[in-house]
Formats: sequence, structure tokens, C-alpha cells
Amino acid sequence: MKVVNCFEHRPVISFEIFPPRAKASEKATNRFYASLDTLASLEPAYISVTYGAGGSNDHASTLALCRYIKVHYGIGAVAHIPAVAFNAQSLKTYLADLKQAHVENVLALRGDLPADGRPNNDFPFASDLVAAIKRESDLNILGACYPDVHPEAENCVVDVQHLKEKVDAGASQLISQLFFENEHYFSFLERCELAGIKVPIQAGIMSVINERQIAKMATIGGVELPPKFLKMMHHYQDNKIAMRDAGIAYAVDQIVDLLSEGVDGIHLYTMDNPVVTQRICSAIKTLI
Ligand code: FAD
Repeated sequence: MKVVNCFEHRPVISFEIFPPRAKASEKATNRFYASLDTLASLEPAYISVTYGAGGSNDHASTLALCRYIKVHYGIGAVAHIPAVAFNAQSLKTYLADLKQAHVENVLALRGDLPADGRPNNDFPFASDLVAAIKRESDLNILGACYPDVHPEAENCVVDVQHLKEKVDAGASQLISQLFFENEHYFSFLERCELAGIKVPIQAGIMSVINERQIAKMATIGGVELPPKFLKMMHHYQDNKIAMRDAGIAYAVDQIVDLLSEGVDGIHLYTMDNPVVTQRICSAIKTLI
């Protein structure tokens, strides 16, 4: 199933998950699959599976998990592909593997640059990867976008111009980086409209529930943490349960506002956490 067809019925609610690490213990792997059972039971429109972004670092596990999601739950799966991990030849092989596994969707990304800052020769930008996948396959291609502006971009206008190149190269839908200030998202949508980007765009939302995640947020360049969010997290920092509940409430509040503005969809960064995702989904169930 090509997940771009989900947008016939809006808003689209989908999930991102991390595959378990290659060296995960049997217990951790079993826990992961139990979590996945719960996530799948929430009936997302599709599930996207990361590659090398804090989870497993080999494309075999991303591919195997996509196949599992499709076969075991009958849910559309999206395999993330970071350009930095491929060259023209290995991409061809991987696309053939995806075809054989009947995975029909990919999220084409550049990936994080190595320490020397040098981009991949074959695919310096995600739009180059999108163009290559388009040439070599009939996969549905998704792309990433940045409401708070990508940290390497010259400015917000140039960033959206590059996004338009990615769409023109063949990306049929976009998923945004997580953000905590809805007004930034609405301004970003206006810039997209002005640039002539007409594909569906889903808002990426993550419920931040502990201090470890706040520290992680600070390392993701270009994600702005608004004062009201920081104040809330500071206020509850000594109470783990309250902090979790406040994080969930903040995410639900964002989603309610986004849905009432008529956004195309929400992509939940689940962090493989079924309890938090379940609570968010149950809070917004009647709004979809
Ligand atoms: P690009 O679209 O190439 O943009 C990167 C920068 O280059 C931007 O500043 C853009 O404005 C600029 N640019 C684009 N084209 C040009 C051009 N022609 N000339 C000059 N500048 C240009 N990373 C992983 O490693 N694995 C994952 O699984 C993963 N999943 C992600 C999922 C989502 C939804 C998001 C939002 C990000 C994910 N990432 C993942 C992180 C992503 O790889 C990084 O954010 C990376 O820094 C940029 O990737 P991109 O695909 O947006 O790059």
C-alpha cells in the first residue's frame, strides 16, 4: 500500500518507531515486539521505521521490520533511507531488496553529516536521493521538512526553496521535524504555499516525558524549545509522573490546535513508547 493514498481521508495519524538495536537482549527484543503490538492496535495509517537515528544502524533490520509491520498487522510501512549510508550501487541493491519484500514506501533523507562535514558524493542532498529513487523504482517517496528551519539552512525562505526541489524531484508527501510551537508550523505552511508546494504535509509531534529527552532535544539542531515548554518541564522536574503527564498534555494540546486548523495529519514520534502513544491517541480519538 502506497501511504500517500491515506490522505483521501484526512487527517492522517501515523507513527515513527526505532528498530531494536542489533545487539539487543532477547528480553529487550521481546519487549519491543510487545510494544509494537500495542502501537499497531492503535491503528495508525502507517508506521515509519528509522535507520541509524538512535536505533539500529543497518538497513536489513529496517527492511525486516517494515516487512513485519506489513505482513503481521496489515499496516503500511515506510522505510527511512539516509543518503549518507549509501552510494549509487548499494542504493540499487537496497531498492531491489525493498521490492522483493513488497515494501512500497521510503522516507528519503540526507542523514546527519559525518564529523568532517563532507556530504555523500553520490547524493549530497535528500533531493538527489529522491531523484535517484524515482529513476530506479516506482516506490512512494516521502521527504522531511523543518518548521523551525533546518539548522544548516541560510534562512527560512531558502530552506523551503530546497524543499520545493525535493518535491519536484519526486517526494509525494512530507513529514515535519518535531516542533513545540504551533505558530512556527503555521508560518512554515504559509511559506510552503507561497513556494508552490502542494503535497500533503504531516506535523511531527513528540511527547517529551523526561529529562533525558529534553537533553536530547537540545542536541537536535533547529528545534526551538519555547519558554512555556521549558517552564513546564522545569516545574515538574522533580516528579517523574507529573513530568510525563505534563509532556503528554502539552503534545495533546498541540495536536488539538493543529487538527482544528485542518492540518493534513500528525506523525507521532512514539519513541517506541506504547503507553504514552496510547494516551495521546485516546485523548484525540473523537477529533479525527
Ligand atoms: P536535505 O533535504 O538534504 O536538507 C539538508 C540541508 O541542506 C537543509 O539545510 C537544506 O535547506 C539544504 N539543502 C537542500 N538542498 C540543497 C541544495 N541543492 N543546495 C544547498 N543546500 C541545500 N536521520 C537518520 O539518519 N535516520 C533516520 O531514520 C531519520 N529520520 C528522520 C525522520 C524525519 C521525519 C526527520 C525530519 C528527520 C530524520 N532524520 C533521520 C534526520 C535527517 O537525516 C537530518 O535532519 C538531516 O540533517 C537532514 O536531512 P534532510 O533529508 O532533511 O536533508
